[in-house]
Amino acid sequence: MVFMFMEKIEVAIVGAGPAGLSVAKFLGENGIPFILIEEHTQFFKKPCGEITFPEIAGYSFHDFCDAGIEKELQHMCIHTKYGEIKAEIPVLILNKLKMEEEMARRVRKYGEILMGKKVSFIENGVLHPQKIKANIIVGADGVFSVVRKYMGVKEPKTGFAAQTYLKDVNMDEDCAHIILRDNIIKYGYAWYFPKKQNWNVGIGSFKMEFFKQSFPNFRKIGNEWRGAHFPADKPTKSYGKNAILVGDSASHIMAAAGAGIFPSMIVAKIASQFIGRFLEGKAKLRDFENEWKKEIGKQFRYSYLASINYWKILRSEYMRHIVLRRIAKKSRYFYKALQRK
Ligand SMILES: Cc1cc2nc3c(=O)[nH]c(=O)nc-3n(C[C@H](O)[C@H](O)[C@H](O)COP(=O)(O)OP(=O)(O)OC[C@H]3O[C@@H](n4cnc5c(N)ncnc54)[C@H](O)[C@@H]3O)c2cc1C
Repeated sequence: MVFMFMEKIEVAIVGAGPAGLSVAKFLGENGIPFILIEEHTQFFKKPCGEITFPEIAGYSFHDFCDAGIEKELQHMCIHTKYGEIKAEIPVLILNKLKMEEEMARRVRKYGEILMGKKVSFIENGVLHPQKIKANIIVGADGVFSVVRKYMGVKEPKTGFAAQTYLKDVNMDEDCAHIILRDNIIKYGYAWYFPKKQNWNVGIGSFKMEFFKQSFPNFRKIGNEWRGAHFPADKPTKSYGKNAILVGDSASHIMAAAGAGIFPSMIVAKIASQFIGRFLEGKAKLRDFENEWKKEIGKQFRYSYLASINYWKILRSEYMRHIVLRRIAKKSRYFYKALQRK
């Protein structure tokens, strides 16, 4: 009897963050039917620093979504115990709510977004309690993905970060500021990013114990903090059963910075192209992993290795300062490596 009420669709996407919205948008543009399911009734429920690099692996953020870009900055300032290091690294400051709402508006031209509907579990390819069966399921449901669980893929390691907004910050508004000091937080950093009307301020650590140690002190600077886990690992396996993973669910993140907005959108584009071929019987599920690895795997790998080496090998804050100063001098070279395919 149950199956009489089951909805069938080509593609079911779980999660309407940057990854899920991007998959839906690209599928829609290619004429592929989908349904997008989001547990919250509003977008941007998870906190974020709202910053991204404008170009990664040959992709430009402007080609993905130009709504919600508030500012383009040319420099990052890194504050260590031994001084300030200014690096020529371009970044975009986003209004993530605006960005996600605009993406949703475009998605709705092509298909349905079920808001306020949580997928509780998946069994034999059927999403519950919605009773939706899809030829392919896309897990874009973040770091504690229910789709990943269904696929039997191991969870990535996670860190934790919290964020708020401040009005008055006495710092240079033309720079995105990163505080890398053990007396503020270990195995992580605090940030001050200048937005149009206020500052996005936050603190996070790759290890929960250090976040718990440092946050009580830091939280005094503001109110209304929001916190969340983020993947702090190399990418997981991203295919299995009749499903693929995109974004935080597969740890598609620049691990050194905990930055996953744009990387998840890039993998989403690759996923949508792959899904088209998969549905025509021209690709196997495992091809998806080869495809995103070819495009952006190197950037994920190097970023993960950089984060491991930075924290494990450079034990003294002075050594870190010296290394960061050297990197900053060659920041153009490092940024080019990130930009290139
Ligand atoms: C405090 C903090 C600050 C950050 N700052 C930055 C930054 O400045 N720049 C950057 O690039 N990255 C940042 N990140 C990381 C970035 O937020 C993520 O990498 C990015 O959001 C990944 O997008 P996603 O769509 O894969 O996952 P998410 O943004 O987590 O979206 C997943 C969506 O799935 C929904 N969902 C989850 N489970 C279910 C379910 N069972 N059923 C239905 N819906 C479900 C969620 O509600 C959510 O909307 C930050 C992370 C944190 C925690």
